[in-house]
Amino acid sequence: MPRKKTYGLRLRTRGGTSVRKQWTRITQIKRRKHKCPRCASPSVKRDSVGVWDCRKCGYRFAGGAYVPSTRTGQASHRIRS
Ligand SMILES: [Zn+2]
Repeated sequence: MPRKKTYGLRLRTRGGTSVRKQWTRITQIKRRKHKCPRCASPSVKRDSVGVWDCRKCGYRFAGGAYVPSTRTGQASHRIRS
């Protein structure tokens, strides 16, 4: 049976099924292009854990570890302003 080429294959059997599935899901989300909060163009990429970088306007900002904006982050923005 031919195996499909997926992200999940990278980890093989390490960590077991649940960890592998979680890793695949998170990797697909973080590799997607995200919307920039400043220029609104979808060219934001993850630079490091929690660091996001817009390729268009050069805007660098801190966000969630795997997504640029988390619910907790939005809540903290509300509190500050
Ligand atoms: Zn931008």
